Parts: sequence; C-alpha cells; structure tokens
Amino acid sequence: MPSKTSLTLPKLTAKAQKIFNAWIRNRDKDLGCISCGGEVQHAGHYLSAGHHTALRFDEYNVNGQCLRCNNFLHGNLIRYRQGLVAKYGENKVNLLENYGSRVKKWSRLELEWICQNYKQ
Ligand SMILES: [Zn+2]
Repeated sequence: MPSKTSLTLPKLTAKAQKIFNAWIRNRDKDLGCISCGGEVQHAGHYLSAGHHTALRFDEYNVNGQCLRCNNFLHGNLIRYRQGLVAKYGENKVNLLENYGSRVKKWSRLELEWICQNYKQ
C-alpha cells in the first residue's frame, strides 16, 4: 500500500539491487570470485544492469566478484564468461547472452517483491 514514505522508483530500484547483491555475495562467498577465484567482495553483473535491464536481478547474470575484477578490470569479462561456463554450462551462458538485449521496466510491485524475497 503506498504511503507518504514510499521510495521513488529509482530509489526503490537501488534498494532492491542492494538487497539482491547482498544475497548474491552471501550465496557465492565460498565459491570465490567468478573471474579469478579471489575473495567475494562485490556482486558483479556479467551483462551490465544499465544496458541489460531484463537481467538486472538475474541469479545467473549476477555473481560474486572481487573488488579488483569488478571495479579495476571492469568485470574482467573474458574470465567472467569462462567462470560462468564452468558454473552453469555453455548453453546457459548462450541463453543469457541471447536474452540480454531485452528491455524491461521493473514495476514497483516487482521491486518490492525482490526486496522481500532476497532479504536475509
Ligand atoms: Zn576477481
């Protein structure tokens, strides 16, 4: 139910991303960085959230990464892809890449569901 304190859509999107990313980091903490096996410090998108809106909250598209790979190596994407193939298989990665160009506008209801579903 909307209230005076409800967040703007951009803020709600940021909140949902923060909660989702924390869930990803926790899921992957023992697996290590998808690109190099290092310590999981971030949740990194394989296909960027800004350009691939449908995959912003996709459990396959977002994986634990170290700070170095996520920030300084801009995702370390060649190694990221190798890590994804090892984790999920070539077919899944191809599906992700084919699906990636779809545009999705996330609704308030969906974002609120993500906040609730992934909250730890
Ligand atoms: Zn790394």
